[in-house]
Amino acid sequence: MQTFADIIIVNARVLTMDDTAPKAEALAISGNRIVAVGSTAEIEPLKGPATRVIDAAQGTVLPGFNEAHMHIFMGSVGLRQLSLYKVKGFDELKAKVEDYAARNLDLKLLLARSADYTILSETERTTRHDLDRVISDRPFAMISPDHHTAWANTRALELAGLLHGRQVGVGNEVVMGEDGLASGELREADAMQPVFDLSETGGREGLGIGTGGEPDSLTPQERAIDLDIIRNGLAYCASLGITSIQNMDGNFYQLEILDEIEKTSGLPVRVRMPYHMKNFMPISDLKEKAAAWHDRFDTDRLRCDFVKMFIDGVTEGESAVFLDDYAHRPGWKGDPLFSQQHLNDIVTEADRLKLPVAVHAIGDGAVRMVLDAYEAASEANGKRDARNRIEHIEVIHEDDIPRFKELGVIASMQPTHPPGNAGLPLEPYLSFIGRDRWPLAFAWRTLADAGAEIVFATDWPVSPLDPMGCIHDAMTRKRWADDLPDQRLTLTETLAAYTSTGAHVEFMEDRKGRLKPGYLADVVVLSGDVEATAAEDLDAIRPVFTICDGRVTYEKVLT
Ligand SMILES: [Zn+2]
Repeated sequence: MQTFADIIIVNARVLTMDDTAPKAEALAISGNRIVAVGSTAEIEPLKGPATRVIDAAQGTVLPGFNEAHMHIFMGSVGLRQLSLYKVKGFDELKAKVEDYAARNLDLKLLLARSADYTILSETERTTRHDLDRVISDRPFAMISPDHHTAWANTRALELAGLLHGRQVGVGNEVVMGEDGLASGELREADAMQPVFDLSETGGREGLGIGTGGEPDSLTPQERAIDLDIIRNGLAYCASLGITSIQNMDGNFYQLEILDEIEKTSGLPVRVRMPYHMKNFMPISDLKEKAAAWHDRFDTDRLRCDFVKMFIDGVTEGESAVFLDDYAHRPGWKGDPLFSQQHLNDIVTEADRLKLPVAVHAIGDGAVRMVLDAYEAASEANGKRDARNRIEHIEVIHEDDIPRFKELGVIASMQPTHPPGNAGLPLEPYLSFIGRDRWPLAFAWRTLADAGAEIVFATDWPVSPLDPMGCIHDAMTRKRWADDLPDQRLTLTETLAAYTSTGAHVEFMEDRKGRLKPGYLADVVVLSGDVEATAAEDLDAIRPVFTICDGRVTYEKVLT
């Protein structure tokens, strides 16, 4: 008896990401698997009376995108916040905030995201006094695109108990003004959290990133709000062609919410999450918590199977760690969040437990510390296929470039982040790192040429989540000066960084990240032919269908 497919996609330009058969015209799906890939003539006989036929109209069909570094809860909350993306100057800021405040009279805290470090001035830091002139009668705060700095008005600082300053963890700071009161600038999660606590979600979206803590004494209503927010965020991912997310928040609360969504309506994207190891946590947590979380969440749709850490902060906040001094601030290199020995001990123990590690490292000093720790772990436990990774790698020292390949470390990078790209200002970044470091800043091409495996992501909500925008940015990267190396990647390399390499990082390359018979049916159908489109225009190509685990999770409504 002939078995028919559940879904066939025909009339397509299929890029399989499978080297043995890179191109096709059609594919068939049964259940949650791809059952055939080939010509339209080969696939059409699999159409039965109940088969759904998707005509791709000569658009590109790819494995669903794997967003390798993002924050689902904070991003989903951000969908409801005021976006200050590309907003510049006092008047525009005030108009935006006043409009948002008028439309959201019941919000306990007015929160805006994507506020650039130079939103009000190229030279002066934003203060609470500036924000008081924007709005003073309601608590207001705005967060930088990288989420490492926030600025709050006086009302918000008062309510959060920060106006008179507060001692916060190493690497975090409630910046004080000359008048002896908080200036309004809050650096890093521990300093920002008391303000976020004022919001409708009580700042719970920041726990997995910041304190590494869990919410306490939650009402069922509060939990329902969070679940609803995350469910919306997951649908938003699907609408962008994403079928896998690596949610970098190590937070049991989010795992439980995602598990509930999975058990009720089913997750529309696969989710991988880490255990977040902070510098005050005992190493025994790796065995008692991280490994236990892994045992509990270990399916192809929801898993918690690695460890996330931060070794430094961000360059603009002067909390990134460099090998030499910041160019604008002699004597300051940044302070790491862990000592080298402490980092080595944690990474070695995680490695012994066979838990891969992903460490946020921005400056070249931070990157070197993490590579040293991975090397120490492999010396202690023996070399294995660990698939450890480093997040961001904004600046690297040339001696460390070959070590990615030697140690098998994956470079997790964000094409949307370089200053000058995607509307981001060049300053203060370029003068902070200094001219000598420019050639090896955001050096994807240099790392790829040295044999490093690269995954791309947006770090949403740090930058917009759209993979097509990110692919565009990776391929159109502009140089800061003519004598700098060209860091653009090719289309094939960029697509691999968003599909097949992401699956490899997750140890799922045997079933995901390629369009191949037997593989999980994670597919995106795009509106155009990516190979025939100039790189500058790639972000105009949009997802029209997203299929995850054999289920249509997004379908563009034709108007
Ligand atoms: Zn992140």
